[in-house]
Amino acid sequence: MKQRIKEHFVDCSDKNGFCFSLTCTICGTVWKSTLMKPEVSTAVKRLYQNEYNRAREAAYLEAATAFTGCRLCEAPVCKKCMVLMGDMEVCSSCARRLRSKL
Ligand SMILES: [Zn+2]
Ligand SMILES: [Zn+2]
Repeated sequence: MKQRIKEHFVDCSDKNGFCFSLTCTICGTVWKSTLMKPEVSTAVKRLYQNEYNRAREAAYLEAATAFTGCRLCEAPVCKKCMVLMGDMEVCSSCARRLRSKL
């Protein structure tokens, strides 16, 4: 579940800091993580990588409050586009598909 959102993370880090984004497959809402400034310069590659990984981890935790991975199609979807089907959270397009089958 957690891994799924991560796979869809788009790295939009630039010289100002680390930033990651996710786009809702259903409504197209773009979510961006809070910009995190690296404490070390890019010159110190190894340390920079550590910071990058930490920032990504933090961004993921942040994303988990706004986004979920659909249980069926695994698409990253914002909370607004999530539908609870029984005890399963699915995206609204999967929900529609399921309902039409019933
Ligand atoms: Zn959405
Ligand atoms: Zn789905």
